[in-house]
Amino acid sequence: MKLELEELECAKVLGQKPIIIAGPCSAESEQQVMETAWQLKDLGVGVYRAGVWKPRTRPGSFEGMGSKALPWLRKVKRETGMKVAIEVAQPNHIFEALKFDIDIFWIGARTTVNPFFVQDLANAMKGLDTPVFVKNPINPDINLWLGALERLNQAGIRKLVAVHRGFSYFGPTKYRNVPQWQIPLELRRQLPALPILTDPSHICGCRGLLQEISQEAFDLNFDGLFIESHISPDDALSDKDQQLTPAALKQMLGNLIIRRPEIDDNRIQSGLDHLRKQIDLLDDELMAVLEKRMKISKEMGHFKKKNKITIFQRKRWSEIIASRLVEANEKDLSKEFVDKLFRAIHQESINKQNRIMNEKED
Ligand code: PEP
Ligand code: MN
Repeated sequence: MKLELEELECAKVLGQKPIIIAGPCSAESEQQVMETAWQLKDLGVGVYRAGVWKPRTRPGSFEGMGSKALPWLRKVKRETGMKVAIEVAQPNHIFEALKFDIDIFWIGARTTVNPFFVQDLANAMKGLDTPVFVKNPINPDINLWLGALERLNQAGIRKLVAVHRGFSYFGPTKYRNVPQWQIPLELRRQLPALPILTDPSHICGCRGLLQEISQEAFDLNFDGLFIESHISPDDALSDKDQQLTPAALKQMLGNLIIRRPEIDDNRIQSGLDHLRKQIDLLDDELMAVLEKRMKISKEMGHFKKKNKITIFQRKRWSEIIASRLVEANEKDLSKEFVDKLFRAIHQESINKQNRIMNEKED
């Protein structure tokens, strides 16, 4: 489905690209909200974020100040001139927020995941001109993300923005939520007019990785950052490890390299074309090798069928994966990549053999 998007005049609503939206994870007190706001305003931030109702994974954690914090955000808006954004998860949050002139709503990852919740929010937003930011769902399902955008769009919301905050992963990972960049890139491919911001704070979960993830977002030409900043991160009531002081944010932003998405120089273009040609030739070779490999898998399928042996041979598979991983190291390829690649090849090979072994013979 094609979304009907109002040409989001980013410069007017969100500031120039790269757009920087910053503010604390949670609004904790009037003083914390105002001090953080003034310091971010001095950095040139045009939109201030702060959570008022906090969705917490486990009960017992700080769940936000609720409606009590809304006047503080209105004060930020009135005194600093910044626009203010909060998370809404229930229709009631929207009605409350509107009483205090909140400019922008965002829908959190734990809400995007549930079509009932999203539909309730969309119904409550009918007739509003408010921009709405939609975070990706916690699980890597692009259709839930698209579905949420569509539900809001069908309710007449035209100022939509996606926020990429990474995806849950069970197992060891250096991120709090793995970025899986291919998902926001696919969203960009399907909806080229939709602005996509990166939330490095919830991807990283710690300060040490924010710079590299933000740089990656810029290098992939996403539209800007949605980032947490707190005047005193160590005292923050939520997400303390990932928040930056406004001064540290300034330094990080200053270190980011902004590269050009377009090529306007013939010399650069021909250099790039030359490299792309080499890549195309190698991809042709890779495809030819894969074709040959799968032909042998099919032969193997016939052989195993004739001799009545199972497709999966555990010992052989363990040897393959172990030897390819050793080679990965020698060839400067990451183990993670080679592991995924050979698992995919192995799966395709199993599918081919399975088809052959279970073919009906006439
Ligand atoms: C947040 O932005 O503070 C938040 C709770 O984010 P998410 O929905 O991405 O977890
Ligand atoms: Mn947070």
